[in-house]
Amino acid sequence: MRPEILIAGQGVAGTLLAWELEQAGIPFLIRDPGHECAATAAAAGIVNPVTGRRLVKTWRFDVLRPLAAEVWRDLGDALEVRLWREMRVRREFADDEERGAWERKAATGELSPYAGAPFDDGFWIVGAARVDLAAALAAARRRWRMQGRLREDAVADLNAASQQYRFVIDCTGAAGLSRAAFDFVPWEFSKGDTIEISVEGLDPDVILNRRLWVAPAGEGVALAGATNEPGVTDPRPDPAARERLVEGARRMLGTRDFTIRVHRSGVRVTLPDRRPVAGLHRERPRVGILGGLGARGALWAPWLARQWREHLVAGRTFEPAVDVARYATANPPGSC
Ligand SMILES: Cc1cc2nc3c(=O)[nH]c(=O)nc-3n(C[C@H](O)[C@H](O)[C@H](O)COP(=O)(O)OP(=O)(O)OC[C@H]3O[C@@H](n4cnc5c(N)ncnc54)[C@H](O)[C@@H]3O)c2cc1C
Repeated sequence: MRPEILIAGQGVAGTLLAWELEQAGIPFLIRDPGHECAATAAAAGIVNPVTGRRLVKTWRFDVLRPLAAEVWRDLGDALEVRLWREMRVRREFADDEERGAWERKAATGELSPYAGAPFDDGFWIVGAARVDLAAALAAARRRWRMQGRLREDAVADLNAASQQYRFVIDCTGAAGLSRAAFDFVPWEFSKGDTIEISVEGLDPDVILNRRLWVAPAGEGVALAGATNEPGVTDPRPDPAARERLVEGARRMLGTRDFTIRVHRSGVRVTLPDRRPVAGLHRERPRVGILGGLGARGALWAPWLARQWREHLVAGRTFEPAVDVARYATANPPGSC
């Protein structure tokens, strides 16, 4: 069947969008030359309800988590790979400021129902999860390649490509086309590094978190991350970041030995209001986008891809909080 929709990019955004279209029976073609620069390839896929030094509850977590769990489980079943794993986070306080934030928020119940039992220098976070993003990308790529729905090349020009399709949807992340095609969006970038380590004896259901994190990722393997360098767009692994990650992992792993297997890095895309974007270009009605996933690709991509599906099937509008149209007005959020 002739594809109606062209998806540019097969990171987590393009993969989940293609999955929603497949479920809805909408013919699509996905084009991506490979995952060399994909932020998804460097990510750990952690879905965490409480983050940051000030222990902030993740935006809309109560609603988005059940959808993410359902979508990742269904996709995993179709690909015959386990993608979604329920986890707990052992959150250690890095300083008195964090301890103070915990004491205040525990007293008001603000982190409920995700704040678990306290321990001497921290507390448990329940309701977290980890998505095996690397497995999702690889297995989905095989599936669509075999079905003739994936082409291993780059889209050069969204506008030109849109002449041949009902919609072309930009899922090209930091290295892609969005900067030029959606130049009215105030993109921000933040480089991050992770290391994959060999380490024995970790509880497979527990993520360690003390500023940085160590997340079990299979028998004798864990991911340690992530650094955060706002404004840096060079996606290459940085030796200084690697040292910081080794130091952080050592602090969390105590006397356990570990060795580095791989050092990866990628560039996150964020927006000033820290919300992602989905929707249509303000001047090119056949060009759309799903992006700005920041550090929450595993949680947000299922929700945004579902919005695209509902738009295409039933003409539903995108939620104003994420609609790229919020940047298409004369006074975008954050302007004076
Ligand atoms: C170090 C690090 C750790 C992270 N940890 C987590 C985490 O634990 N949990 C979490 O939820 N998120 C995490 N993230 C964030 C998350 O990974 C990103 O938000 C998400 O992966 C972005 O996905 P994307 O599909 O938008 O872009 P990308 O993953 O960058 O994918 C874009 C794709 O588009 C392709 N492409 C580029 N140009 C073109 C073109 N012209 N034509 C066709 N294809 C093109 C690329 O090849 C690539 O495959 C992390 C990010 C980093 C960098």
